[in-house]
Amino acid sequence: MEENILQVTDLSVSFSGGVQAVHGVSFGIRPGETFALVGESGCGKSTTARAIMRLIRAPGRITGGQVIFQDRDLLGLSNREMTRVRGREIGMIFQNPLDSLNPVYTIGSQVAEGLIVDKMEKKEAWKLAADMFRDVKIPDPEQRMKAYPHEISGGMRQRVMIGMMLCRHPKLLIADEPTTALDVTIQAGIIELMNDLRRKYNTAVLMITHDFGIVADMADRVGVMYAGQLVEVADVFTIFDEPLHPYTRLLMKALPVITKREGRLVTIPGTVPDLSKQMEGCRFADRCPDATEACRRSVPAMKEIESGHLCACHLVKGGPAHA
Ligand code: SF4
Repeated sequence: MEENILQVTDLSVSFSGGVQAVHGVSFGIRPGETFALVGESGCGKSTTARAIMRLIRAPGRITGGQVIFQDRDLLGLSNREMTRVRGREIGMIFQNPLDSLNPVYTIGSQVAEGLIVDKMEKKEAWKLAADMFRDVKIPDPEQRMKAYPHEISGGMRQRVMIGMMLCRHPKLLIADEPTTALDVTIQAGIIELMNDLRRKYNTAVLMITHDFGIVADMADRVGVMYAGQLVEVADVFTIFDEPLHPYTRLLMKALPVITKREGRLVTIPGTVPDLSKQMEGCRFADRCPDATEACRRSVPAMKEIESGHLCACHLVKGGPAHA
């Protein structure tokens, strides 16, 4: 089996007031694989992605852990070294491409700029940018490259962002809810495009999403987060067919089934715990239908239940604690 291209170990991020937004998160991604981090809003998935890229703004700070990317711990790099990693080695796409595109430059010049920074001749960079526009299925690329971000649609802007990231051939692409702001038909096109390009360039993808439709369409493996912690990791089929953690099982029950006509959708009672409070036991205990007194006293360790299937729950029996 190929070695992980990214290995996150025991990553923790805190904000002011002692809010532990991410606590002891560990997972790995292999080359060419798509790993989806899923969970409710505020569960820490976007913070995890930003911590990997060292984009946590004060008063937030990374309080522990390692982020090994191609044999280097990104948390130990200088700011200058990290700037070189961003874009060139790890690309990132956000929910709203307008936040990432500069309104005063044409989209073509913005795509070509990254290549020029990589020491490519201007003419060659412009040509490669046009090829990439074609790859991301933007019609009439040479003309479109002269447009400004506000002159193209939201779906088109996201295609530009994907092209901008992929034309530098990063080994890893982090996509943080890249289709949330788009309507469903455009969304489907973007997912198809990302799958095609991932296969073509063998790019690993860390997909941050709360949408299980996207997980089903894109992911090879899935990590389920709850209240800043990973609670279950497995391949995508296992997560849908045989989830073990009570939270994952409830998430699956809450999904609408197109063939089922009766009844209301299942909801998970209660709310996510206050992350600024010290928690002694399982963070899901107040909402878990299976909670026992022991769950409130001690934190369940992440255990390997079967090869590649990890779960952090006292009631799920498995092997030794996993890092
Ligand atoms: Fe529920 Fe206890 Fe498992 Fe937490 S450890 S998910 S409270 S059964």
